[in-house]
Amino acid sequence: MKQSIAIIGGGVAGLAFAICYKKLGHRVDIYEHQPLSGREGLGFIMLENGVKALTTLGLYQQAVQSGYPLNQCKIRDTNNQELLCESILGSFGTTRKAFIDILLNEIPDDWLHFGYHFSHFEWDAGGQASAAIFDNGEKIKAELFLGCDGARSSVREQIFPNAPVSEIKVQELVSIVKDPTLVQALNHHFIKYKSNDGGLAVGLVPADNETVVWFIQYDVKKHHIAEKTALGKREFAYKTLSNWPHYIQRLLAHTDFSHSHIWKTQYLYPLPRFHYNNVVLLGDAAHALLPFTSQGVNSAMEDAIKLSKQLNNNFAEHLPMVLQQYSAVRKYRVEQYLTQGINLQNEFLANHHDKQKIPFAF
Ligand SMILES: Cc1cc2nc3c(=O)[nH]c(=O)nc-3n(C[C@H](O)[C@H](O)[C@H](O)COP(=O)(O)OP(=O)(O)OC[C@H]3O[C@@H](n4cnc5c(N)ncnc54)[C@H](O)[C@@H]3O)c2cc1C
Repeated sequence: MKQSIAIIGGGVAGLAFAICYKKLGHRVDIYEHQPLSGREGLGFIMLENGVKALTTLGLYQQAVQSGYPLNQCKIRDTNNQELLCESILGSFGTTRKAFIDILLNEIPDDWLHFGYHFSHFEWDAGGQASAAIFDNGEKIKAELFLGCDGARSSVREQIFPNAPVSEIKVQELVSIVKDPTLVQALNHHFIKYKSNDGGLAVGLVPADNETVVWFIQYDVKKHHIAEKTALGKREFAYKTLSNWPHYIQRLLAHTDFSHSHIWKTQYLYPLPRFHYNNVVLLGDAAHALLPFTSQGVNSAMEDAIKLSKQLNNNFAEHLPMVLQQYSAVRKYRVEQYLTQGINLQNEFLANHHDKQKIPFAF
């Protein structure tokens, strides 16, 4: 069957695009390789631009109600001394699962095709992708293909083979705990503890009334998780944070490390553009950013809204121009996030400066 738009990857960018395009009166089809759309993963902070995007999608109230409102970002040292306190009023924390479920709920069932792992495109003589081929043997034809398949995008690999990524300087051990008392004690604050000699930090994100997503961020030159098992992760966490403040001891005691995962943080060097003929990239597929930015989810939604609005009514006649404009506008924006992310990473790796920066890209 020939369709107008086939979306490859049903994570944040793919689902947000589908919702926005549906609101504009169109249909799409989403091909996702998981049996149910990318709901694994732990959680994140929705920043001002993400909140704006959710408002456009009509989902802000739902998303904030299933998450946890945040009003301040605090940075403390390991003696609990406050180094920074800034308002992040309007932001909220959420689990990835709750958030993806809200997006999924907006999409008609027959638009969603699970168990489709994209393999490659077939190209016509004019250089246009004529069909997407999936590992299950299906061949899907469409006029436009959206690569929303995340940081290790196979769609990107088709149009920009071997696109370079940065070396891994920082890793994160990300965990989740159920602890309503701790959520209450955090009092709507995102708190980040930083060691004085740099290269080690712990972040606490209240993600709903009873859940805290927390992470240990560490310089891979100074710290190492010897064994990637639950026991190995637990030993690393206890050894690394043994004298850290009270909240952290509480987190250690409540965490089931079999649900913790290690995130190797890397960014994608800027691509020349986000499209090639009738294939266009959104979200991490287009611009994987460092976690210091907290812009992965937020910027993926911005991409989705920008592209869907530009495509609306301009699809048939002006596709090349629309994709070019989308690419130019979004590339400019996310390259600012990228630069801020690299600066924040450098600051994290160095010894503490007197003046702390808020740990997000805006
Ligand atoms: C497992 C996981 C856990 C994460 N956890 C966190 C976290 O705790 N905190 C945080 O800040 N950020 C996290 N992130 C990153 C954050 O979710 C992304 O930056 C953000 O969602 C960007 O949206 P996206 O749509 O570009 O990518 P994603 O939301 O990652 O969506 C990509 C989708 O494409 C699908 N896919 C991949 N390859 C193929 C293929 N070949 N064929 C078909 N489908 C494919 C994936 O299953 C996924 O559903 C996580 C990402 C993942 C994948």
